[in-house]
Amino acid sequence: MNNAVKKVVVLGGGTAGWMSAALIKKLVGASIEVELVESDDIGTIGVGEATIPPIQNFNHVLGLNEAEFLKATKATIKLGIEFENWKNVGEKYFHSFGAAGKSTPFCHFHHYLKRAQTLGLTDNLWDYDLNHLSAQQGIFAKIKTKDPIIEIPYAYHFDAGLYAQFLRQFSEKLGVKRTEGMVDNVLQCQQSGNITALQLKSGQQISGDLFIDCSGFKGLLIQQTLHTGYEDWSHWLRCDRAVAVPSERFEHTLPYTRSIAHAGGWQWRIPLQHRNGNGLVYNSSCYSDEQATDLLMSNIESKPLADPKVIGFKTGRRRQQWHKNVIAIGLSSGFLEPLESTSIHLIQSAVVRLIHMFPHQGINETEIAEYNKQSELEYQQVRDFIILHYHVNQRTDSLFWQDMQTMDIPASLQHKIELFKQSGKIFREQNDLFNEGSWLQVMLGQGLEPQDYHPMANNMSAEQLLEMMKKLKAIKNEPLSQLPSHDQFLKHITGN
Ligand code: FAD
Repeated sequence: MNNAVKKVVVLGGGTAGWMSAALIKKLVGASIEVELVESDDIGTIGVGEATIPPIQNFNHVLGLNEAEFLKATKATIKLGIEFENWKNVGEKYFHSFGAAGKSTPFCHFHHYLKRAQTLGLTDNLWDYDLNHLSAQQGIFAKIKTKDPIIEIPYAYHFDAGLYAQFLRQFSEKLGVKRTEGMVDNVLQCQQSGNITALQLKSGQQISGDLFIDCSGFKGLLIQQTLHTGYEDWSHWLRCDRAVAVPSERFEHTLPYTRSIAHAGGWQWRIPLQHRNGNGLVYNSSCYSDEQATDLLMSNIESKPLADPKVIGFKTGRRRQQWHKNVIAIGLSSGFLEPLESTSIHLIQSAVVRLIHMFPHQGINETEIAEYNKQSELEYQQVRDFIILHYHVNQRTDSLFWQDMQTMDIPASLQHKIELFKQSGKIFREQNDLFNEGSWLQVMLGQGLEPQDYHPMANNMSAEQLLEMMKKLKAIKNEPLSQLPSHDQFLKHITGN
């Protein structure tokens, strides 16, 4: 394969399609033509509302104005996720985007905290986390500081349909060509198997050199045409369906996602400016679709704004996310349930990876192999983090949760859990999307207690340590009195 890539064709106009088209056109579009094909008849999946902080980098690289973005997508601020009933019914913890306390170069804060707790301190990790403290009070502002310990890292909840529309306008202004129509035939080179053109129902053919498959779960190019196969992870992540429904907004807008575990799955509640997004992710042997829908509808606490929609899925990943001249991005590349809001991020990182390896001189197998290796590792790391939430639980009320406790888990995750249990140590591996702080919060929150702490925590006397804790807590609490409510912040930014 040695042909220079001059034209990229993106199949699909969901979040994945428009994010891909926008970034490719913005960053390499001076020499590359980009055409996006989407079918209004098929439409998009229409869910996907919570994100993680790197989305800010994506918007920044595109040059999007944050206030315009917040207005256009009806977005709210997300400081983290509150997990209710995950460890035990009636208990909750927070996975915040912030860093608790203050770590020293060789020793994470939680080792100091653990020693202080052995000295009688009754505080927990989250008492030292500004994101968590702000979330609990429903307050937020962008703090301008160079001091990382009083930063409030954040992401967004947004209407993914509106985000796709926003990116469409942006992309079309940059010169992305959009063609509406249903692809009903895919033309391939007989020798190489490469895709040469997409044929629409109307007979029109759209040819290209590189094809981005953003056609959703079915993977029209990567799977239905190139048959790359799927690695099924549903023996670890057993939820296989979701039911989603929007409902009226509440008076006050929480700056975080709620994830509420039930006997056979979990429910999300995502506050947007104009409505709440709700859904139940469940295992189909625990609930029928009707039971799941009833359970969700009885727990949304505000008037539904549409009929509930049931979506089936299979957790796993496409064996090769780049094969021949097709790269699968979005749902066509694999799916991990939305527990940690990672799908839109995986779109972002896939298109960023593609830009890094952009095959302008022609596609070669070495680059394909590197791309696939990096994607595989990224998916596995996110997978392990999600399994952690399920596996380390103490619920005794349902077989679903009890089975999770005893199931075999990937060796990579088993090792992380053992290391933490024995020593309190956590290491971020090879660009793991989730840092030590994220792993720590979920491990502690789900009920793992380390048996030891790092000896550096013994480098000060008991009095010095307790004094340090007191000061840190005061530093973390100090900004709170100056922050406006999340609703006031949104009003100020959007003018609504
Ligand atoms: P789709 O939205 O399905 O778009 C597919 C596109 O392909 C459409 O434009 C369609 O018209 C086009 N198409 C398909 N076939 C053809 C054809 N033959 N001809 C022409 N066009 C065609 N992600 C998050 O980050 N956070 C979340 O909170 C979150 N929650 C989720 C909850 C659930 C229950 C599910 C299932 C997913 C969730 N996601 C979430 C994932 C998120 O919804 C997707 O990653 C995102 O919407 C991207 O979808 P997509 O663009 O790949 O596919």
